[in-house]
Amino acid sequence: MSLLVLGTVALDSVKTPSGKRDCLLGGSASHFSMSARLFTDVHLVATIGEDFPLHERDFLRSMKLNLDSLKVNAGETFKWEGEYQGSLNSAVTLKTELGVLATFDPSVTEKQRGIRCVFLANTDPVIQMRLLKQMRKPALVALDSMNFWINSKRKDLLQVLKMVDIYVVNDEEARSLSGEHNLIKAGRKLRSMGPKMVLIKKGEHGAILYSDKFIFPMPAYPVETVVDPTGAGDTFAGGFMGYLAQSGKVTEGVLKEAIAYGTIAASFNVEAFGLERTSKLTIKDLRNRLSKFRKMMKF
Ligand code: AMP
Repeated sequence: MSLLVLGTVALDSVKTPSGKRDCLLGGSASHFSMSARLFTDVHLVATIGEDFPLHERDFLRSMKLNLDSLKVNAGETFKWEGEYQGSLNSAVTLKTELGVLATFDPSVTEKQRGIRCVFLANTDPVIQMRLLKQMRKPALVALDSMNFWINSKRKDLLQVLKMVDIYVVNDEEARSLSGEHNLIKAGRKLRSMGPKMVLIKKGEHGAILYSDKFIFPMPAYPVETVVDPTGAGDTFAGGFMGYLAQSGKVTEGVLKEAIAYGTIAASFNVEAFGLERTSKLTIKDLRNRLSKFRKMMKF
């Protein structure tokens, strides 16, 4: 199955203990696409401003992404500035400049409306809803969000959550939206808000899936040198959704395998700044590391 992702294409400025980078190509949709493209064809829906570097657009094209619904609008590209300290588990946002995202009205082609697998990556929930309403009959819809939107557009987020199958969220945000500190209680509460399943990402501590039938935890792949965790969650989601789209079904076994692929994809993302590592990633790299991971976990 093809996969459609709506999210941000951004210019990021990032500071980590390994160094500082300005104007890196980033954004939720870009990071997501780097891993999802290894499984199926990916249609990217986002907006960029007139300042978006031409070579970055060429780069996205070279990744074989479908850019028919990547819109250039008058104004500046979405910009995010963040810093990581200590355990590198969560970013401190220093600046968010919405630019063209503030007035973005997504529209997809007639053909794209028929895509059955949809990921609403981290962006304004109002935009997520507008996009979802254009899709004809999606078989699988998953959504990610973050504190910025949970705090500023909570009502809109709660509305769009009612229409999704899987809510992919990090632990801090799961606690913030549910009001529950314990993640099992948080998972249950979030499911009662609409999504059939909730997949909570816990950074270096892995991820855990809650459905009505089972709970499935998975540790993170141990990485020795974490350079830049920006986009790890999106890369995880890309591997997860890419695998589901390729499989064409959502059974318990397929979901567990998809989480393993997401985990491995994210482990590559953190090893370098921005898209440096994931843009060179092959399905063979993923499979090799996954087989090491399986051996590690056998007991
Ligand atoms: P992650 O580390 O997986 O949470 O994703 C980080 C990416 O999300 C960065 O590349 C940012 O450009 C992008 N980002 C940061 N803040 C927002 C926001 N408020 N809405 C959408 N995307 C964002």
